Amino acid sequence: MKHNKKLIVTFLLLLMISMLSSVDVFAHEIFYEGTSPNWQAIPIVWDERVSGKVHLKMNGDYLNSDYSSYYIEVSNAWPNASTKVSVARTNFGTSKVDLATASKSYWDNRWRELSPFVLGVCYLTSTDGISITRNTVKQSSRRIRYAAILLTPYMSAYESSLFDRNRRPNHIRATMVHEIGHALGLGHPNVQYYPVNDKSIMRQGTGYEGYYTPQQHDINDLANKY
Ligand SMILES: [Zn+2]
Repeated sequence: MKHNKKLIVTFLLLLMISMLSSVDVFAHEIFYEGTSPNWQAIPIVWDERVSGKVHLKMNGDYLNSDYSSYYIEVSNAWPNASTKVSVARTNFGTSKVDLATASKSYWDNRWRELSPFVLGVCYLTSTDGISITRNTVKQSSRRIRYAAILLTPYMSAYESSLFDRNRRPNHIRATMVHEIGHALGLGHPNVQYYPVNDKSIMRQGTGYEGYYTPQQHDINDLANKY
């Protein structure tokens, strides 16, 4: 009897330890500080809430035809996946998340060398009006007020040269949903900071995996952040 009890206690202890090690207790953030392997997350969250949910006022008026037909579906992707997020599609004057196709001159100047590895970028502004970068994130209020998402103007050019034609819609939507994830404050789960192999729309190199909606990892990350 006594022996059995000890076994049970040992089993419970093992179960607790395995639960502790398997549950993600942190979200993959955009910014970290420190040095490997002791990275410290610098969490940053979206500011606006409506009825307790993160609220994104979104606009896609400046998307070209490579993207515009996917805009409604893409704007619904995060609220469909997570109860933490709501989205309202608004006009450009009142939006806080703008998705736009970048001009070729801008893209050529800024991202051409990294094309086609960079398909979209997300620029964040804090509630105190500063551009949020690795250098300024700690000076910011740690809240995101505005996100400008710029997408490559060469998406259709990549169709013939790079992407499997059948995967193109997936690639486009995955890129758009991924960049909105950055607006929510989510980082890449497969880079140097505590990388995991989970399916995630926030993986760097997203779009090749065959899905374009937020995955369980992403939903967990939002639950841990918000
Ligand atoms: Zn990214």
